[in-house]
Amino acid sequence: MATNLTRRNFLKAASIAAASVPLSQVTAKAQSGVVKAPLVSPGSFKNTQTAVGGVCEMCFWRCQLVGKVRDGRLIKLEGNPKSIDNGEAICARGNAGVAMLYDPDRLKYPLKNVGERGAPKWQRISWEEALDTCATKLKTIIDRDGAKGLCFFGHGSHAKYLMDFLERTVSTPNISEASFFQCRGVRDTAYLATLDIAPDENVDMANAKVIFFTGTHIGENIHLSHAKNYLRGLEQGAKLIVVDPRYSASAAKSHIWVQIRPGTDTAFVLAIMNYLIQNKKYNADFVEEHGEGFAEMAKGIREWTLEKAAEECDVPASQIKEVADLMAANMPHVAIHPGRHTTWYGNDFQRCRALACLTGLLGAIGCKGGLVLPKGPKGLTRINWPYVPHEEDSVLRDVADEHHFSPPGTPTELLRDAAISGKPYPIKGAVICGQNIMQCMPNQEKTIKMLKQMEFVLCVDIMPTDSTMYADILLPDCSYLEKSDFIKTGQQWDLGKDPQQYIAPRMPLVAPGFERKDSIWITNELAKRMGYGDKIPAQNQEELADKALAGVNLSLAKIKAEGGIHVQPGVSPYDDIDDLTVHFYNEDMEDEGYPPIPTYVPIEQPPQGFVRLVYGRTPLHTFNRTANNPWLVNEAKTNPLWVNDKLAARLGLKEGDTIKLTNQDGVTSPTTTTVKVTPGIREDVVYLYHGYGTKNPEMTQAVNRGIDDNSLITKIAVDPESGAHGMRNNFVKIVKVS
Ligand code: SF4
Repeated sequence: MATNLTRRNFLKAASIAAASVPLSQVTAKAQSGVVKAPLVSPGSFKNTQTAVGGVCEMCFWRCQLVGKVRDGRLIKLEGNPKSIDNGEAICARGNAGVAMLYDPDRLKYPLKNVGERGAPKWQRISWEEALDTCATKLKTIIDRDGAKGLCFFGHGSHAKYLMDFLERTVSTPNISEASFFQCRGVRDTAYLATLDIAPDENVDMANAKVIFFTGTHIGENIHLSHAKNYLRGLEQGAKLIVVDPRYSASAAKSHIWVQIRPGTDTAFVLAIMNYLIQNKKYNADFVEEHGEGFAEMAKGIREWTLEKAAEECDVPASQIKEVADLMAANMPHVAIHPGRHTTWYGNDFQRCRALACLTGLLGAIGCKGGLVLPKGPKGLTRINWPYVPHEEDSVLRDVADEHHFSPPGTPTELLRDAAISGKPYPIKGAVICGQNIMQCMPNQEKTIKMLKQMEFVLCVDIMPTDSTMYADILLPDCSYLEKSDFIKTGQQWDLGKDPQQYIAPRMPLVAPGFERKDSIWITNELAKRMGYGDKIPAQNQEELADKALAGVNLSLAKIKAEGGIHVQPGVSPYDDIDDLTVHFYNEDMEDEGYPPIPTYVPIEQPPQGFVRLVYGRTPLHTFNRTANNPWLVNEAKTNPLWVNDKLAARLGLKEGDTIKLTNQDGVTSPTTTTVKVTPGIREDVVYLYHGYGTKNPEMTQAVNRGIDDNSLITKIAVDPESGAHGMRNNFVKIVKVS
């Protein structure tokens, strides 16, 4: 008899068979001694307690967590069921926080470098000696050169308290955050110059009819509630337009994929706007009510016909028209994503401004499916170091009279040049906290030069990154799972639903191991030794959080009792734009000598024999931050180079070949990677995941794994308006190794 053994039938049959074993036989086995004790596998939740109040920082989205803890040891992380943001979900990196916490390569004790900067020999020292040395060295520089003799590089919530101490109270004007000058600062200042708001990523994709991405690739860049927002939009039928030279995870879901020539996005957006204006397909009522300088912009971009843009962008004119028509047919419910890592070519302010103008042209602001104004809870008390005014003539930006639309802080390139040249003043002390400047600031040779001319370099971190190799003193910070230093606030992820707000202060899920100390303790101890003890705003991390929460009548204890998150009724983010102005033409920009309307600035194209190097994210890593995490390394071991299939054939390359890269300045990657042959990338571009190719042998999982794209970014482009680094202007040749 033929049997139709489907998987379902098989399982049914198996369970019937199991059920047919007499119970007496099962117990008999147990009694016979085969099962001596119930098995508790290391990963089970047996005898665990649930610790609430975690706020993830494996990336910077800061999902809310609970931890399963047994005998003081973290067994597993999960999304906090009370969360109206990420909910119970966390991503692969979030899960791997456990492996980060117990990474044997983590920094454990204060260390002193008794070797050279860049080739350190570490000696364990006491906290007393470490703090006394740091305070003495920093104070010596301040006493001689003033506070402008110090600089600070920081990233993430670990760095904020220390940065505020140095910037506000010590008064150093030389502060550079990677999140501004190597990531999203240019986006925020361009939108501020256009819409008077910094947009973050407050774009209501869940309720959009059209979603428009230029160089945004959600799915590779995972931020959980944002990804949910995006996927809900797609589920509900939104049409997705993706402009990208590469067939990214988002392009794979798109209705229209525009395989654009890199660097020409602004021309593409100008042509869309010109077409909409010429054909009266824009939101005239919105423009009439909120627009300023519309006629000037319309006149100024008239040259950008579909045909001209098609040639510049190397895409069909009909495709630009199709994109524009789709937007016009669905306005204002068009989610034009402002982007996140927006520092590409050094012409980025103009691209971001063009996107903001297009948003205004469609009236896609403050409405369902558009850009919205954040409506998180208000009233938290601002606790900070007291502000001591900067010496006016010491601010690099003012001295150089450059970059009038830069984000807060000092443009990195100005700061680095000043440190190397000693002009307009010497910068001899560097404090680095949570920022891996060797792998985020382009041109590593200049960064090394800057660090080597310092009299003193202090690094505070949790891992021995490539940057920590240049420290004189290296202090071990607690991770985000071992301390309380940040209060995450926001609203429910689907803005179309019942408005709610949340307040989620970070609380430690486990105690710190070894001699690690939180950055609030470290900063306070430094401050006391440097003579600023009377200015300390909070004695410890709990006091800092409680003082902030007092403004909304809450405390850590109260929120812990509520399950780690306080949720309250919220406010709809729609229809609150009465005061909004869209500056299609910006007079302030004109006064400072920049183009007052969004303007396309062409970039250099690859020379003969070279292709452009672009980089991006894998969903399994957050830059180099997670590069040593054994769980994540196991899932994403290296960063294969994406090479177009026709180009690969011409170069005689095949899938899996081992290669190196040499750039236009003759710099060769010190490490290798493999080739991924794909039709999903243009022939003039190759692509790598960022964050690989670690040089520090102390990172035993990450060292020499894949290629560090940043080692090849030697040609620097600086965005004139913002001073941010453009980092996709380097060209490479592929060198086959085997
Ligand atoms: S998106 Fe993932 S890594 Fe980022 S905060 Fe959320 S869980 Fe953590």
